[in-house]
Parts: sequence; structure tokens; C-alpha cells
Amino acid sequence: MPAALVTGATGQDGYYLCQGLAAAGLEVHAVVRPSDDGTQDPGLDDLRAVVPGLVEHEADLGDADALSAVVAEVAPTEVYNLGGISSVAQSWAQPVATGLVSGLAVGVLLDAAWQLQERTGRQVRFVQASSAEIFGEAPTSPQDERTPVRPRSPYGAAKAYGHHMVGVYRARGLHASAVVLYNHESPRRPEAFVTRKITRGAARIAAGLDSTLTLGSLDVRRDWGWAPDYVEAMVAAVRADVPDDYVIATGVAHTVEDFVRAAFARAGIDDWAAHVRTDPAFVRPAEASLQVGDSTHAREVLGWQPTKGFTDVVDAMVDHDLALLAAVGRRP
Ligand code: NAP
Repeated sequence: MPAALVTGATGQDGYYLCQGLAAAGLEVHAVVRPSDDGTQDPGLDDLRAVVPGLVEHEADLGDADALSAVVAEVAPTEVYNLGGISSVAQSWAQPVATGLVSGLAVGVLLDAAWQLQERTGRQVRFVQASSAEIFGEAPTSPQDERTPVRPRSPYGAAKAYGHHMVGVYRARGLHASAVVLYNHESPRRPEAFVTRKITRGAARIAAGLDSTLTLGSLDVRRDWGWAPDYVEAMVAAVRADVPDDYVIATGVAHTVEDFVRAAFARAGIDDWAAHVRTDPAFVRPAEASLQVGDSTHAREVLGWQPTKGFTDVVDAMVDHDLALLAAVGRRP
């Protein structure tokens, strides 16, 4: 049975990816961060529930020896690198750790995959979850695979290193692809991210539990898609005959204000502005103001396309948060 090794398996995308790989008949191996205090990541419980036969391997992405050992032990046919610090805000708080786990770890995994391929003579395929943040304050819009890589945050810089290393190992003969992901959301998005903060906040206000929601800039524009669609692109990149880089985006940008408006409307609140405050403390340094991606290359080569539009994504997240509150309310 072919084996897939997935880092970041307990995260938003990992949940959907591992589920899809298992359903397609692959043996799924997850790299799981060792717990410092013995407590279990709730994401792991959720993952175990939907991935029968999940094989877990404890390794921190900052531990190069442990990571290489997992690759050698599992001898996967395909490697999906989704793990790392995935928030720009957190990367400003932990710039060095971000470089280690979202940047250097990519090189470690690529080299381990390359060594495995050399040793066994069997092709190993690799996909890197790259990010639109590698483009920083892009000179053109929409951005595509030819847009200059000029990050503006520690997260973007770490992702840029990983992105370039994919190119280096591809030139060396590894089937290594980078999917340059624009923002993608789902009910599994952690509450630290603005989209989930908004949908949860709208649900709580609708339920009478809160009266206000405090956000940073409402003018930031993002290209928001549906996470399960973006995971499909990763699998398609691994299955493609030739490895390459692919921008994965809807091609439509909306402001944070648009997101707020749509979320409050779905929650049944007409006067969203009466409930939303802005606080400069939530505005990030060097915020890339407009991100919108042109995914023509992925559409043409991989046959990829998004299945959900902006409003559908917001609605699914708000509905989930309303249902969570209703479930809590029903508890004895
Ligand atoms: P996520 O929910 O934040 O998941 C990140 C995963 O990385 C978690 O499983 C986390 O494990 C793991 N991780 C973090 N630090 C680790 C460490 N030191 N050692 C081992 N594992 C570690 O991210 P996501 O939204 O699924 O995104 C998946 C990938 O796509 C990420 O690389 C992200 O940067 C990239 N991306 C995402 C978006 C987006 O909009 N979602 C956009 C562009 C690029 P714990 O559960 O233990 O923390």
C-alpha cells in the first residue's frame, strides 16, 4: 500500500488532507508535535476519529534529526509538508522559531526525501504548502507564479526559503511541487485567525453572549477560499506527471469589512457596525494590503478549481459556530 507522510496533520488542512488520502486507499502517517506537558492536542483526537489506521510519529519540526529519521523509517511514496507556524501575527512574536519550523524544516524534509529516493531507487513525491505571503507587497495584482518573491514578514520569509528549496530539489531530480496558497478557511480554522474570530463573534452576538467584536484594520483585502478545495490542489500537484509551482486562489478579493458584513448577515444581525470596534493594537506591522491570486496555471495543468465562493465559505463557518453554541446551550 502506498504511504503518505503528512506534517501539520493536526491543523486545519491536515484534517481534510489525511481524510482524503485515507479514503483514496493510502496508508496515512502523521508527524505529530511531541506534547510538552503530556496533554493531547484536540486536533489529534478529531483526526483519529476520521482517519482509520492513522499512524502517528512524534517529531518536532525544529528537530532535524527526528524529522529525517521519520522519513527514513516510513519510507513514504509521497510527503505533504503542511506543518509549521502558520500565522503572520505569531511569526512577528516568534521570528526565529518561525524560520526554524516553517523554513529550515522544509530543507530537512526535502533532503530526507531525496536521500530516500537515492537509496531505494523509488520515486518520492513532495508537496510544500507555500503561501501568498512570499509575495509581500506585490507590485502586480493578481499575483501568479512569475510574481517576484519579496516577503514582508518573518512568516513570508520562512515560506520563501521553503519555496526556493523546493525549486532547488526539483532541479536535483525530486518530484517536488509548491502550492502557493492564498487564504483558505473552514470551520476548522483556529479562533486566533481573523475569519474565525469574526464568525464566532457574530454567532456569540446573535446568541446574546457578547455585544461587541474588536478587530484590526477592516480595509485589508484577501482572496478567501474553501480549505478542502486547497487540499485537493495539493493532491493534484503530487499526482501530476511533472512537478511545478502553482498559485492556488479564487481570484476574487474581499475586505475584512466584507467578511464582517457577510458573517453578521448570516447570523441574522443587520447593524453589524453597531457591534464592531477597531483597535490599532490588532493591526499587524507591514500588512500586505492586497492579495489576490491568478490560478490559471493550476486550472490548466491540474484541472483544479474552487467549488465554494466567498459567501458560501462565510455561511458555512457562521452556521458551524451557531451550531456549536446551540449544542452548548442544549447541554444539561
Ligand atoms: P494550521 O491549522 O495552523 O496547522 C499547522 C500545523 O503545524 C498543526 O498541525 C501544528 O501542530 C503543526 N506544527 C506547528 N509547529 C510545529 C512544530 N514545531 N512541530 C510539529 N508540528 C508543528 O495551518 P493550516 O491552516 O492547516 O495550513 C497548512 C499549511 O498551509 C501551513 O504550512 C500554512 O502556513 C500554509 N498556508 C495556509 C494558509 C491558510 O489560509 N490556511 C494560507 C497559506 C499557506 P499543533 O496542532 O501541535 O500546533
